[in-house]
Amino acid sequence: MPRAKFHRVYFVRRILAHGRVALVAKEVLSVVEFFPRLLPRQLDEAGAVRLQRIMEGMGFSFRLGARTREVTGGEGVRGVRLESGETLSAGMVIISAGVRSNLEMAEAMRLDHDRGIKVEERMMTSRLEIYAAGDVAEFKGMTYGIWPAAMEQGWVAGANMGGGDLRYEGTTMAKTLKVAGIDLASAGNIDAEDKLESRVVTDENSYKKIVIENDRIAGCIMLGDTKDFSRITKMMSEKQDVSQIKDQVLSG
Ligand SMILES: Cc1cc2nc3c(=O)[nH]c(=O)nc-3n(C[C@H](O)[C@H](O)[C@H](O)COP(=O)(O)OP(=O)(O)OC[C@H]3O[C@@H](n4cnc5c(N)ncnc54)[C@H](O)[C@@H]3O)c2cc1C
Repeated sequence: MPRAKFHRVYFVRRILAHGRVALVAKEVLSVVEFFPRLLPRQLDEAGAVRLQRIMEGMGFSFRLGARTREVTGGEGVRGVRLESGETLSAGMVIISAGVRSNLEMAEAMRLDHDRGIKVEERMMTSRLEIYAAGDVAEFKGMTYGIWPAAMEQGWVAGANMGGGDLRYEGTTMAKTLKVAGIDLASAGNIDAEDKLESRVVTDENSYKKIVIENDRIAGCIMLGDTKDFSRITKMMSEKQDVSQIKDQVLSG
């Protein structure tokens, strides 16, 4: 589609994660987000405000804590009406609202399920002869929806179905994204409520945070500068004791 046609585009909810699309029409994009801050699973409040400011400087506008009621128009899109009553005109609407498992088969087979098919640590469902793994599986209340978790769960399920005895312990959520050209990586517990000990380093173009629990790094956020992400996630997975270097971790 020619660039001139992107007069006004509205992103609904988490399309921000798909930065490549956002780049195409960055001067004319408006984002409608259900949550009161951007990328709630990847960013805490301070990081989200930082991202929002950077993107506003690029020409984006935001409606946060907003619910979409309907997309208006006939043959073509005319706009988006919000529950607040506000109507935004739009030539194109892109919706990104996450994934939800199709649980029809689980229901027909009477497998325990909630958001996904419930599995225990061997990835067995509520029926002894049936295992589940990947996006459809719910482990300890969590449906991961990411490839590394599907791989780890599939490995455990396959081994156990073949007579082995492996246990799944959960997957550390780690995401690397490009949001409108801005690098963002986060992993583990980002402590969005600021309840844990943390260290933050920030400048005009970046926001970096590590979360510390029991002298170990429990999670991190790297916005605008992700070069230390693999070093820090390695420290996380090795459960390195950082009690003596808490203030130096982010400065390399
Ligand atoms: C657009 C998009 C981008 C993504 N980007 C990332 C990313 O950057 N990083 C990341 O970690 N994850 C990403 N994901 C998520 C990742 O793809 C999934 O977490 C992963 O593929 C889940 O694996 P799975 O085996 O559970 O399911 P799937 O990969 O969906 O495989 C399920 C398979 O089962 C088949 N199937 C369905 N119903 C039946 C049936 N009744 N009988 C037989 N076969 C059936 C389907 O056709 C499909 O082939 C992305 C997903 C999407 C949609």
